[in-house]
Amino acid sequence: RGEPNDLAAFWMPFTDNRGFKANPRMFVAADGMHYTAAAGHKVLDATGGLWCVNAGHNRAPIVEAVRKAAGELDFAPTFQLAHPRAFETASRLAMLMPEGLDRIFFTNSGSESVDTALKIALAYQRSIGQGSRTRLIGRERGYHGVGFGGISVGGIVGNRRQFGTLLTGVDHLRHTHDPARNAYSRGQPAHGADLAEDLERLVALHGAETIAAVIVEPVAGSTGVLVPPQGYLQRLRQICDAHGILLIFDEVITAFGRVGKATAAERFGVTPDLITMAKGLTNAAVPMGAVAARREVHDAIVDNAAPGIELFHGYTYSGHPLACAAALATFDLYAAEDLFERAIALEDYWADAVHSLKGAPHVIDCRSIGLIGGIELEPRPAAPTKRAMEVFHKAFDAGLLVRVTGDIIALSPPLILEKTHIDEIFGKLSDLLRTVS
Ligand code: PMP
Repeated sequence: RGEPNDLAAFWMPFTDNRGFKANPRMFVAADGMHYTAAAGHKVLDATGGLWCVNAGHNRAPIVEAVRKAAGELDFAPTFQLAHPRAFETASRLAMLMPEGLDRIFFTNSGSESVDTALKIALAYQRSIGQGSRTRLIGRERGYHGVGFGGISVGGIVGNRRQFGTLLTGVDHLRHTHDPARNAYSRGQPAHGADLAEDLERLVALHGAETIAAVIVEPVAGSTGVLVPPQGYLQRLRQICDAHGILLIFDEVITAFGRVGKATAAERFGVTPDLITMAKGLTNAAVPMGAVAARREVHDAIVDNAAPGIELFHGYTYSGHPLACAAALATFDLYAAEDLFERAIALEDYWADAVHSLKGAPHVIDCRSIGLIGGIELEPRPAAPTKRAMEVFHKAFDAGLLVRVTGDIIALSPPLILEKTHIDEIFGKLSDLLRTVS
């Protein structure tokens, strides 16, 4: 059937395939803070791959752990059967979670973690005699992956539109981003905790007895780095408690040091009932996700289960031995290099750098917390290419990888970065913004 043509066969989501084929941007290797592009040049990774490479690329202890594990136990299921490393990984992960969230369910991705958490929430409500609670509440501008559950509770209408009927009985909180009051806010915005009252509106509208859970990203990442206003998450927690609603934090981006602690829950001092994770769990070396559940949630489901089935859910590759090996080595590395603390130590320098772009051409907002940053550009009226996308392409050619979401440049570098890397990232961005019309 002729010669294979990889570029033709590879279906790239979310990408102008034709444009990409004309000018492919590919990586062939990675090390520490850098990728090597197929074209040969080094690219400074200011996005941690896809918000996931928190300890830097190809770190030797993780590589070695995976290599060693690959020759020992290639695969073992984790239902009906198990393997010791799955237990060890769950125990070590539980130690990083807020007090009480020590029941771990393994998945393979963030999207699977979200669907898993939603199912756990529904199963829990049913197990305590609250079977009428089937409604799930997400938030506008929330991103929760691409499973049917995730796009249903997700707040990006464009991600749902193509797919017809999704989960029914879903509603969305208003989003928290208020540029009129919080432009150029640093850390948590001062204004907007009152937006949490929107949950009271939905409770009044639907009736608390119909609502199982609320899911939010503590810091919305993929929709442009939206940091929750001071007091907002605390107020959501209070309202959920008052009405018997479970609170789920989707920490696929924020967990593992991105905001300076093991979880954003810890950083913001709010303990949800369930936390979804992926990405930094294995430093992205092997795909893996997880859900941490409050012990009472787990116990209610298990204790009240019909004989034989506690939770009919699980993936073939849940707790895969190679993923567990990667996760354990990653936890060790985070601890050995104090990487979560490092994000705190660099936070001010990073925030100064992010906010140094205030006044740069086209910049209308800068936001940052921990080692995450968002730079919002004024939309280009009626032009096919967004300014931010132009910056992305020019940055790549100039040896810098940024992530673009709409008109926002999003940054989430590996936590091993040095101040010189921060200077390089923002020096380049500042120069590049001047070249964009
Ligand atoms: N939730 C959040 C908050 C995410 O940022 C993402 C991915 N960016 C996901 C879920 C989905 O994760 P995955 O792509 O691993 O399925």
